[in-house]
Amino acid sequence: MVATPIGNLADMSERAIATLRSVTLIAAEDTRHSKTLLQNYQIDSRMLAYHDHSDSRAVEVLLTHLQSGESAALISDAGTPLISDPGYKLVRAAREAGIEVFPVPGPSAVTAALSVAGLPSDRFLFAGFLPAKSAARQQTLRELKEHQCTLVLYESPHRIVASVSDIATVFGDSQEVFLAREISKKFEAHCLGTVSDCLAWLESDSNNQRGEFVVLVRGDVAEGQQEQELAAALQTVRVLREELSLKKAVALASRLTGVRKNLLYDAALTQEAEQGE
Ligand code: SAM
Repeated sequence: MVATPIGNLADMSERAIATLRSVTLIAAEDTRHSKTLLQNYQIDSRMLAYHDHSDSRAVEVLLTHLQSGESAALISDAGTPLISDPGYKLVRAAREAGIEVFPVPGPSAVTAALSVAGLPSDRFLFAGFLPAKSAARQQTLRELKEHQCTLVLYESPHRIVASVSDIATVFGDSQEVFLAREISKKFEAHCLGTVSDCLAWLESDSNNQRGEFVVLVRGDVAEGQQEQELAAALQTVRVLREELSLKKAVALASRLTGVRKNLLYDAALTQEAEQGE
């Protein structure tokens, strides 16, 4: 599995070039597209088109080839194979046939964007492309929001404004977002700010909407906001406690406010202990 540049050809690694020169067969997502890259590095290994949705013949050809002792590499149009790109079925089939698969690591838009965003990177969730329709997109975003870690998404130029607008609907206007456009290319641009700031940046110039995008959404709520939400939830618990047990009041308040039940329960216990003193 050989990673190739996501924009800047100079990001092609020496090992990627050597590997592609040495294999007898290169499976490529789009052979015409990859021809330019390969010609640039005087790589003339035979090419074969490969898609996960193409019939299983391509997998069979590749496996037969590998089983006869030959070598093969898979490349995608850009970046790392299998990252929102074909390859999964091939890797699976190769492993099931007892064939070892090795990565030749290199560029990927996920890691490139995450490495410069300035958002928490210890835990992140890569969700690739969101659904094309707004209702499905918002539903997916709601599910992803539950994970409370930095969210990394891919987006195309014609949907970037609609997607960022849906992020505003689901996460709120003030959620922090990072947009990375055209990474490693001539018109590379970044925008870090609230969802409103990033929408304003996109809409301020139609050129800002052009090209390829990675969108990062901060997963956790800002500290001040978290405290405010907890305070509001505790107020709800206080009212519900006039009629309900602590456990029931916390469960209901958690559902009403979205504050985690365990967190709210501990805070409510502390609140009642303090009131009892
Ligand atoms: N396999 C690739 C990788 O490792 O990043 C991703 C392929 S996916 C089909 C293409 C999407 O990746 C684009 O629509 C865009 O969201 C993102 N992408 C790829 N290259 C990019 C770049 N130079 N700048 C920003 N986003 C990029």
